[in-house]
Amino acid sequence: MKNKPSNPSRREFLATTAKAGLTVGLVGTAFSDLFAHPAQKIAGTGFTQTPLPYAYTALEPHIDARTMEIHYSKHAAAYASNLRDAAKEEGVDTAQPLENVLGSISKYSTKMRNNGGGHYNHELFWSILQPVGGTGPVGPLLSAIQASFGSYDAFVVQFEAAAKTRFGSGWAWLLVDASGKLVVSSTPNQDNPLMDVAEVKGTPILGLDVWEHAYYLNYQNRRPDYITAFWKVVNWKAVADRFAAATT
Ligand code: MN
Repeated sequence: MKNKPSNPSRREFLATTAKAGLTVGLVGTAFSDLFAHPAQKIAGTGFTQTPLPYAYTALEPHIDARTMEIHYSKHAAAYASNLRDAAKEEGVDTAQPLENVLGSISKYSTKMRNNGGGHYNHELFWSILQPVGGTGPVGPLLSAIQASFGSYDAFVVQFEAAAKTRFGSGWAWLLVDASGKLVVSSTPNQDNPLMDVAEVKGTPILGLDVWEHAYYLNYQNRRPDYITAFWKVVNWKAVADRFAAATT
C-alpha cells in the first residue's frame, strides 16, 4: 500500500483546519472505524499518524488545546516522520505491524527505538483519551484490575506513583503481561513494554505521557496535577477493547 492517496489529503486537511481553528481530522476514515479495534488500528498505521479523533480543544480544561496542537502536529508528527526515515535507512518494511519491529528493537538503531516507540506510544495515547472520560473501567477489565491490584483505587495509586516517580521523560503504563495479568510499569524516553529491552514486558493497554511537552504549558512543573487531570479524560471503552484484544 505505497503512495496511499489519503495521507497527503489528510495532512492538508489537518493543516487547513488547524489554521481555521477547527481541527477534526476525520477525512477518509469512518468515525466508527477509528474506535472499532484500536489495537489493530495501531498495527495497521503504516508508520503514519492516525487523524486525531477529536478537536484539539476537546480535552479542555484537563489538557489544553495549545498543548494538544503542538503535541500532535509537531512532537508526534516528528516521531512518525523520523520513524519512516529510519525504516527507509534500515530497510524495514512499513507495511508490517510496528509491533514486530518494537519486539526486536535491540537489533535496530537508537533512531528506530526512539521514533518507533514515540510513534506507537502517541498513537496509543490519542486513542485512549476522549472529551468526556473518567467513568472508570467496567466489566471484565474492572474484574481484572481488581484481581491484579486488589481494587481500582489501589491500581490508581500504583499507576500515579509510576507516573510521578519516572525521572525525566517517559511513560507510565498499564499492561497485560505474558501470563495475562495486569501490571503497572514505567519506561524512560519513548520506550514501551512491547520492546525486547523493556524491564517489564507485555501489551500496553493504557499509557500516560509524562514528558514535559505533554503538560508544561498548562501545568508547568506540576506533573502530579496533570496526572490527576488525566483520569478525567480516559476513554475506558478503548482501554477495555485493548484489554480484550490482548487477552484473546
Ligand atoms: Mn509526547
